[in-house]
Amino acid sequence: MNIAVVGAAGRMGRLMVAEILADDALTLVAACTRADSPLLGASSGELAGVRGGPALCALSSEALAGADVVIDFSLPAGLEQTLDFLGDAALITGTTGLPAATADRLRARAERHAVLAAANFSTGVTVLLDLVARATAALPDADVEIVERHHRLKQDAPSGTALALGQAVAAGRGTSPALVHGRSGHTGVRPRGEVGFHALRGGDVVGEHEVYLLSQGERILLGHTAQSRLTFVQGALRAARWIAGRGPGRYTLRDVLGLS
Ligand code: NAD
Repeated sequence: MNIAVVGAAGRMGRLMVAEILADDALTLVAACTRADSPLLGASSGELAGVRGGPALCALSSEALAGADVVIDFSLPAGLEQTLDFLGDAALITGTTGLPAATADRLRARAERHAVLAAANFSTGVTVLLDLVARATAALPDADVEIVERHHRLKQDAPSGTALALGQAVAAGRGTSPALVHGRSGHTGVRPRGEVGFHALRGGDVVGEHEVYLLSQGERILLGHTAQSRLTFVQGALRAARWIAGRGPGRYTLRDVLGLS
């Protein structure tokens, strides 16, 4: 299977390149980065600490032309360009912090091509989303607070995974809860039904999410800790193997894991 990686010089992209080059069943046909990157022309493999790999190239339709699957872990502006340049390849993207217009473009693309966009490619988080939906359905009166921690370089808050956990609460309760981001000042009594989000940023934390269900006299804490970015890379590559050759549609990691 031929794969192109967009964002290949980034933290996720380098790990992705190393994993693809280590797998005989996968061929890395393009490793794309920004057109103004000083790393253009450098060996994608060397950058990832392994041998081989194509030279880093600017994102373009020619670069993506030979790919069966394009994997994008870049930034929202990068994903916009990927969508401009994609031919008929299936798309896997983990890029987060997307504006509504980009999310709309992903939906439109899925009408004609295979698309899998996930805020978190860890299989553990996929299971956590299930648990949260079930727990909040069973405890409709519990107050839900979501706490997430990430490294200091993360650009968006709350994390895409925290928002996905909020959607799991909504799915569990069959409602659209008010989302409250942090609290300060005279907030008054906590209204029933809202979901609170709290984003901590610092150090090199890969990704931690906690969902509190706070009731009278007891509380439940459901959580997930990512110890290495490799877990997201392996999830994305599992999704890439699964999606290659599929027809149009908006797929999820639940589909890949056979949970749907
Ligand atoms: P990073 O900043 O290290 O890497 C992003 C890379 O994208 C950079 O090398 C940058 O040059 C490149 N890029 C930016 N604009 C581009 C463009 N127009 N064309 C081509 N390349 C472009 O970030 P990262 O930590 O690797 O994370 C990348 C994205 O993946 C972020 O949105 C992050 O939140 C997300 N992420 C998702 C998951 C998940 O499981 N879904 C896990 C980790 C990170």
